Amino acid sequence: MMDKLKDECGVFGMFNRDDHDVARNCYYGLYALQHRGQESVGIAVNDEGTILYHKDMGLLPEVFNDVILNHLKGKMAIGHVRYSTTGSSIRENAQPIVVKYKKGQLALGHNGNLVNAKELREELEEQGTIFQCTNDSEIILNLIVRNRMLCGNFEEAIVKTMEKIKGAYSLVLMTPRRILAVRDRLGFRPLCIGRLGNSYVVSSESCALDACGATFVRDVEPGEIVILDGDGFKSFEGSFSHRVTPEEKLKNTKLCVFEHIYFSRPDSFLDGASVYRARIEAGKMLFKEHPAEADLVIGVPDSGLTAALGYAQASKIPYGQGLIKNRYVGRTFIKPEQGQRELSVKIKLNALKSEVEGKRVVLVDDSIVRGTTSKRLVTILKEAGALEVHMRISSPPVSYPCFYGIDTPNREHLIGAWKTPAEIANILGCESLGFLSIESISNAPKGSSCGFCNACFTGNYPIL
Ligand code: SF4
Repeated sequence: MMDKLKDECGVFGMFNRDDHDVARNCYYGLYALQHRGQESVGIAVNDEGTILYHKDMGLLPEVFNDVILNHLKGKMAIGHVRYSTTGSSIRENAQPIVVKYKKGQLALGHNGNLVNAKELREELEEQGTIFQCTNDSEIILNLIVRNRMLCGNFEEAIVKTMEKIKGAYSLVLMTPRRILAVRDRLGFRPLCIGRLGNSYVVSSESCALDACGATFVRDVEPGEIVILDGDGFKSFEGSFSHRVTPEEKLKNTKLCVFEHIYFSRPDSFLDGASVYRARIEAGKMLFKEHPAEADLVIGVPDSGLTAALGYAQASKIPYGQGLIKNRYVGRTFIKPEQGQRELSVKIKLNALKSEVEGKRVVLVDDSIVRGTTSKRLVTILKEAGALEVHMRISSPPVSYPCFYGIDTPNREHLIGAWKTPAEIANILGCESLGFLSIESISNAPKGSSCGFCNACFTGNYPIL
């Protein structure tokens, strides 16, 4: 309903060396990752080599209950929340994917998107491979299994698979005896390791470690294969990451910068940088680049709020609430018909008349995609009595589609691809509009050990 880029997926895994209820810990971890995908959810547990699983369409509390969780007993677990980018939103595409091969059962959870999925799928189909779902994660699993039959272990099989697949992937793979966590060489999507007592967990974001009582250990390095088993966790010596210096890593890796700006939760740390601090910093830089004379700074809930606070801190303009979000508009919300488009935003976000009336307002948001929601928000604020609306965006104009796991409209629908900021301001009906520069967005996540992908702003795709 809102004009936003769509989140991708989240993964979680745990190897139990104490007496934890792995399925329940996985459930708590996935709860904290729900913002990364709301279409389907699943948990698979390994009980002495037998994989039990439950997955379905819906949010975590809709899909799981006590009875199901009590049934999922085992020594290790992996879980997944999904928003579909490749493959349609159907139950068959829910993850983890569970398969049986010659040496036992396997389960895989994938966050990301392969750019050579079509070619790989055709190649595998020509060789007689049968696919049960339409997502690219099944391709990865097929390749791992094939390579496992040729190599002596899963680590080597994954290295071979990584040589073949191109694109973004953070993976959790559950084998009969271990969990393997894998991150692609460019590190597009985050992945980190935590500790819970003597047990270890892996998660897309550190906020999920907090949710299940684990403490952060470190990030999985881009190009690294990490093994969780009865001995704890270790990094596979043959991992690509072992051949990279910190300087090379900073220069060559491509963590999605939108993870900091919009997708990840503010209480997460990604590769050494706080998401919250990155958003504050982006707001401060936004003021330096695009100051405004105004009476009030407000943010678009939720992801624009922190950058708005940064803008207010730098500008010394009072920060306040100007838009109220209805938190009960869920996936099943029936959209108003064509003639009532205005309503669809008003039902989700409404202006706080008492705060904005008679004021010059700076409205901060994280991005503009098509521009439709921004236009309606400006209208809502003006109808509530705002004298002026100055829009500030804590990212550059989105001008190119993403191929690495983020759902973006075709380029023809991206307003930033075809219009100048002045033209967009005119269309939105606001007094002024300013976007954060490409230089600043990469500098906002202070202390990041990874470099950033900015392809949706520049068209410079790191891998095609
Ligand atoms: S193209 Fe944009 S959304 Fe996609 S990974 Fe790169 S920065 Fe993220």
